[in-house]
Amino acid sequence: MKIGVLALQGDFAEHITMLKRLGAQTDEVRLPEQLKGLDGLILPGGESTTIGKLATDFGLMEPLREFGKSHAIWGTCAGAIFLSKDVSRHQPLLGLMDITVARNAFGRQVDSFEADLDIAELKQATDTTHPYHAVFIRAPIIESVSGGARILSSLADGRIVAAQEGHLLATSFHPELTADTRFHEYFLSLAS
Ligand code: GLN
Repeated sequence: MKIGVLALQGDFAEHITMLKRLGAQTDEVRLPEQLKGLDGLILPGGESTTIGKLATDFGLMEPLREFGKSHAIWGTCAGAIFLSKDVSRHQPLLGLMDITVARNAFGRQVDSFEADLDIAELKQATDTTHPYHAVFIRAPIIESVSGGARILSSLADGRIVAAQEGHLLATSFHPELTADTRFHEYFLSLAS
């Protein structure tokens, strides 16, 4: 199993460390030809406008869209924004997932917070029962899911923070910044 991590900007190194802990082969992706031979790809957190701009400059937009038609892709935070169809503002998006997203949805005062989530699929896939402790940093909210996309997890107030559409996964939080490897394990199961 070989998983690429888009390494244009953001916390790609943390994803690579996590994947290595799980015994997966990994590679940093900056150019279209580096997508060859990968079983899946992670789009890290960072700044989605910067990631989109660099992906455009590096000629990656169409190759990434093509890759996502038949391979697993997981976007965390800014990566989830980049995967989405609509963010109600002008910036380059892959538009692969049938989700709309609101950036920086938790406002400035509450830039960061943590919350325990109950995610049935995650527990089932990893044969565990304890909640998932999620870290949110200037996080987006998934405003709506449509088409083949479905909600994986919401906060207690109903705001959506994780969604899945077949082999595509979006989380508004950062599993790569915790010690809990279950989300990466879950993604590896989607990529296999
Ligand atoms: N606020 C960033 C954006 O809108 C996302 C933050 C993050 O990835 N932690 O792109």
